[in-house]
Order: sequence, then C-alpha cells, then structure tokens
Amino acid sequence: MPWHQWVDDQLAAIRAAGQWRHTRSFDALGPTGVLGGREVVSFASNDYLGLSAHPAVIDAAVAAASRWGAGSTASRLIVGSRPAHEELEADLAEWRGCEAAVVFSTGYAANLGVLATVGGNDVTILSDELNHASIIDGCRLSRSRIRRFRHGDLDHVTELLATAAGRRVVVTDTVFSMDGDVAPVAELQALCARHGALLVLDEAHAVLGPDVESSPETIRVGTLSKSLGALGGFVAASQPFVDLLVNRARSYIFTTAPSPADMAAALAALRVLRSEEGGSLVGRLRAVVQRVAPGHPSPIVPFVVGEEAEAVAAADALLARGLLVPAIRPPTVAPGSSRLRVALSAAHDDAMIDRLLEGLSAVGLRP
Ligand code: PMP
Repeated sequence: MPWHQWVDDQLAAIRAAGQWRHTRSFDALGPTGVLGGREVVSFASNDYLGLSAHPAVIDAAVAAASRWGAGSTASRLIVGSRPAHEELEADLAEWRGCEAAVVFSTGYAANLGVLATVGGNDVTILSDELNHASIIDGCRLSRSRIRRFRHGDLDHVTELLATAAGRRVVVTDTVFSMDGDVAPVAELQALCARHGALLVLDEAHAVLGPDVESSPETIRVGTLSKSLGALGGFVAASQPFVDLLVNRARSYIFTTAPSPADMAAALAALRVLRSEEGGSLVGRLRAVVQRVAPGHPSPIVPFVVGEEAEAVAAADALLARGLLVPAIRPPTVAPGSSRLRVALSAAHDDAMIDRLLEGLSAVGLRP
C-alpha cells in the first residue's frame, strides 16, 4: 500500500471514530482574546496565576532576548549555559527546598529524562493509572517493568512494592490533569521510604498544593509552562541526582536548551509567586475555585458529560456564548467519561466567573 494511502486511511479512521481534532487560532493576551472572529474568555489555559501576561514577566523575557538573543543555540553541555539558566536553577532549588535543580526544554522532556535515567531492565516502575502521557512515555522509554496501580490506591501500591523484585520506583502526578484531584503524597513518601523505593512526583499542576516535603529519595518534577507562565520543565532533587541527569538524561543532553527569554520569564514569575503579590494571586485563585467548585483542591475542574458528541455539543454551546471551555474525550480520557475541563485562573475576574456559571447552567452542567 502506498504511504499516502495509509495516511488517508488513518485520517478516515480518526474521523469515523468521531475523534478528529484540529487547532484553532486564538489571538489573546491573558484569558481574553479573539477566536474565530468572536471575543471569548478562555477557561482552557494552564496560566493559573495569570503570570504569562504579567508586565514584570514580559519585561524580563524582552530584556533577556535583547541581552542573549532569541535562542540558546545548542545543548548546554556543548555551548554552555547563559546566566539566566543558572540563576533560575538556583532559585528553583531554593524554592523547592532541594540541593539542586536542572531545567529541561519542557515538562514533557523532564519526565522522559528522569524516568529513562532511573529505569532499566532490573527496575520496576509503579505508575498511577491516570498519570500524564509524558510519564507513560517516560516509563516506556526506560525499558523497565511497568506496573500500573489503581488510581491513588495505597493498598495496591503496597501490594506491588512488596512483590516487585529489584530496584523500585513509584511515579505519580500530584494533581491529576484531567480530574484535578490530588495524590496522597505524604502517604506515598512514607510507603516508599519503608520499602526503599524512589518516589517521582510530577507537580505540573500543583499551584494550590498538595505541599511536598523534600527528601533525598523524592524527585520533584515541575513545569515552567503553567503557573509560571513561560516554557520549560525542571527537576529539583539532591545534587548527585541532578548531576546524574546532566550526564545521562538524553532529553537534556541531545536537545537545545530552553531559550534565555523563557528562563528569565520563569525566574521573574517565580519571584512574583514567592512575593506578597504571589500570595494574593494564590488567594484569588482559591476564591475563584471556591465559587465554581467549593472544596475542590485544584484549579482544574471537570464536568463529566459522558458521550463524546454530548461533550462537544456542550463545548460548542458555551463557545457560542463567548466561553472557551475544551471538551476532553477519548483517548485522553476513558470512553463514556468525556467532559468539559474548566481551568481556572487568578486572572479571571468576577464577571468572567459569573458568565461561566451561567453558561454551565444553560448547558445543564450546574443546578
Ligand atoms: N505533567 C503533567 C501532569 C502535565 O499536565 C503536563 C502538560 N500538560 C506535563 C507534565 C508536561 O509539561 P509541559 O507542558 O511543560 O511539557
């Protein structure tokens, strides 16, 4: 069969399954912008604190690009770091209470790098069944034995730790990206300590917690692309572990380092986050979450609809009201659990939240 025929068949299969996806142009700064000729408010971004549009963050990116140029030009092991990489890593390590930190081009690359580095034929990785795709791909790349545990189920983790041979790793998101629920982090730390297992935590969405107490056997993966409004990923851990990543992680070694502008933007954002202003932004985000989903632990709020077509119809109805709320469907979530995924931000004002709540009521997703 000619390749173009194979491609056509694949596209036909995606369409036939009702899973066709395409990108749309969104001309925006912060949560508002123009999509398809219409002014909309977005509840789709991970800009939880609105820092991607913060003047100090934008100024830092502009100044870094002027000082060091647009790109980082090669891997840091080849061409060297710019001061912005090193300054950011020092601040990230201090923020996380770890000896050291290292930045990657994305959070995705950070997960691949960590898991491929610690994994191997003699390693068993225990992975929560709802972990992010970058963790799943990192597990595959690591050539380890993979055991999926039932979502957040400590008994299942205990059982698997007791029966797995060789070195063991437990890996979990701390906030799950499709449900916005949280992992039992302290309990997992205690379990791993008892069994001599390494714990890898992906804190990509952990802006409202859960808090993590750093320890030498806990590897903390994070992203610069969500709460910090820039682009990149990082790992905070002990100095020896970070040294090992720099020497072994192929997703660090064989790719161009993140740009100076992104490093400077993330650093400026981190400084805002750790200031009084950051405390107010987190407080504002908590208040917004409380209005939409009282008691919910994160800014990701799912409204499960069920069937794909219904979720897409609900998203279309909200869009007609000027509200961008993505429909999430298989294969990202399990069949029958298609949903609208609302991502809240400190940048949403009260009027925007009013409109969201009215819209959700209008499509039958709120009383
Ligand atoms: N981990 C989780 C839980 C995520 O949701 C994401 C991004 N969606 C990533 C890692 C990857 O981070 P990045 O976007 O910085 O590559």
